[in-house]
Amino acid sequence: MLRRLKLTLLAASERVGLSSLVARSPWRRARLLILGYHGVALRDEATWNGELFLTEATLRRRFELLRDAGANVLSLEDGLRHLRAGTLPPRSVVLTFDDGFADFSRLAYPLLQEFGFHATLYLTTHYVERNYPVFTVMLRYLLWSGRDRPLSLAGISASNEIAVLSTPHGSRTADESIRAHAEAEQLSTLARDALLVEVAHRLGIDFEELRAGRVLSLLTSGEVASLDPSVVSVHLHTHRHRVPVDRQLFVAECADNAAAIERITPRWAGSKHFCYPSGVTNPRFLPWLRELGIESATTCISGLASRSTEPLMLPRLLDTMQLTDREFVAWLLGVGALLPRRAITR
Ligand SMILES: [Zn+2]
Repeated sequence: MLRRLKLTLLAASERVGLSSLVARSPWRRARLLILGYHGVALRDEATWNGELFLTEATLRRRFELLRDAGANVLSLEDGLRHLRAGTLPPRSVVLTFDDGFADFSRLAYPLLQEFGFHATLYLTTHYVERNYPVFTVMLRYLLWSGRDRPLSLAGISASNEIAVLSTPHGSRTADESIRAHAEAEQLSTLARDALLVEVAHRLGIDFEELRAGRVLSLLTSGEVASLDPSVVSVHLHTHRHRVPVDRQLFVAECADNAAAIERITPRWAGSKHFCYPSGVTNPRFLPWLRELGIESATTCISGLASRSTEPLMLPRLLDTMQLTDREFVAWLLGVGALLPRRAITR
């Protein structure tokens, strides 16, 4: 309902010239659009989760729209500097990619080079240094891929039930009980990987093929180190992709992340830019981030950043498969930010 109303309003604002008026306005000129991406699908990940993954064709289309609309794609560092100084060029955009999925090197990076765009990679480092698929994400993908088959939870959770994965309730129960088992048993990354192998085996999925194809794996240290700093900046996203609501643990997550980035690519040691994993924010984090000397932090709250925006609570539009070309361009021009919207968390 809200969606249909928005699309109607956007069409009307284009017709009466409001969209281009907003695009040329001092109001838009003083604002920065930060776009957020995660993975680019190596196979059917975008069908599974169109919020976490875009197809390569969709990402290419977005880049074409940016180019054709005369967007000024800036690095995060330049974008924030110009925002503070009040010197942003028209239709300013910053591109960010979260997590550091292996597909970034293979699919997003060549597109960035082709279009001459700069991007920030918010890197979560635990899996980068281990080279296993990300446990929670892969578990959900396996349960989706094998949704036509029953799954016995015996031995891989505290339950002995047979999960019916074709129903939302069944797949959620399986996901929660297997994750709870891994937590309760305090399984190591290696043991969690073995658990994924077992789930895949029970569902008749060739796990080694997924592993070899780097599906839902993160970049290796070598791949991160080989990214050209004139194309990609590497910044903070916590070591284990979590934000504990405890000062000491929170600070340790950030410090471990920073130390790992320094080991992987010394070029980006001492980063002062952070992205909240899963978009989880909390007012308590702000003084802790300031203590760490962090200058900017991006959220998953849709909006345009202005000079008066708290730099540790920067809004960001998460681009998804569900977003139409019209909505995407409306955000670029600025009119998208004027329409009602819901916050998305990831
Ligand atoms: Zn993330």
